[in-house]
Amino acid sequence: MPTTQPNILLIYTGGTIGMIKDPKDGALKAFDFKNLLKRIPELRLLDCDIETVSFEDPIDSSNMNPDYWIKIAELIEDNYNNFEGFVVLHGSDTMSYSAAALSFMLENLAKPVIFTGSQLPIGDLRTDAKENLITSIQMASLQRYGKPVIKEVGLYFEYKLYRGNRTTKINTEHFEAFESLNYPFLAESGVHLKVNNDRLFKPNSKKKLVVHKTFETNILLIKLFPGISQPIVESLFGIDTIKGFVLETYGSGNTMTEPWFIDVLKTTIKKGTPIINVTQCAGGSVAMGQYDTSTRLKTIGVISGKDITTESALAKLMYMLGEKVSFGSFKTIFETSLRGEMS
Ligand code: ASP
Repeated sequence: MPTTQPNILLIYTGGTIGMIKDPKDGALKAFDFKNLLKRIPELRLLDCDIETVSFEDPIDSSNMNPDYWIKIAELIEDNYNNFEGFVVLHGSDTMSYSAAALSFMLENLAKPVIFTGSQLPIGDLRTDAKENLITSIQMASLQRYGKPVIKEVGLYFEYKLYRGNRTTKINTEHFEAFESLNYPFLAESGVHLKVNNDRLFKPNSKKKLVVHKTFETNILLIKLFPGISQPIVESLFGIDTIKGFVLETYGSGNTMTEPWFIDVLKTTIKKGTPIINVTQCAGGSVAMGQYDTSTRLKTIGVISGKDITTESALAKLMYMLGEKVSFGSFKTIFETSLRGEMS
């Protein structure tokens, strides 16, 4: 057992949790992080030592992009040996994307990185921010035999800790803003913190942390809908600068079977551009070949996203293209779970 309390680094990137109303126009804007700690004196009562670091200019997470992901990853990398756990305060709008991206960036992560935020600002009387923040810090502080219990990127919101790369924001109003429909929650906060050990990611503890920082952002997400037009589809898939596509299909990975559509996909794949098939359904998996409407996709080499979320598929695609994974092994690697993002 450690003789000292765990050190936790709190990284504030922005989001509602640290916002206040602008007296001029009533719009929510990010405010100075130091005020956040003033508003929660309870933080000093926790069994851990907390240090804080903030983005110089905190952002609404709608402005999130890979440069900020690198900033978060570097803060973790630079402080990795001095802290037992990390809590990232982040707006909820794009939190699932960031949690997924960080999970791919932090290979062999052996410490907790917990994303959290809130639906109401910390100063609001009915705020959900305090519980989310306090319990996230407690989750990040959990130790067994002097080692962190959680060794992955998690997302804590409204009494549940989820695997970050399995989550989706599903509600703009409820405190329960996130869901992880294809993977059960990792831990729950009630009277006690209950961790489901068998659901936790088990990294190779012998390997050192490797931080990947290159993303290919020239990718595109296309969501199918009945009536999507041939010229539009052809022109999108015809853009040469696009290095990879995520195709949101129906049900278990089904699409229209019209020859022009299959031809467009085939030509794209022949050029060496990967196409990832993910389902528009919130839960369940792509299973190409289950229906006639997906059999051709399988034979022309469309990659199965299985039960990955769209957020994770986009992050994984940007990460793998950034890593310059060859087209020959792209399909096999994408269809393999790297950080527990797919079953
Ligand atoms: N627009 C805010 C953001 O994502 C919402 C939130 O923090 O929950 O930054």
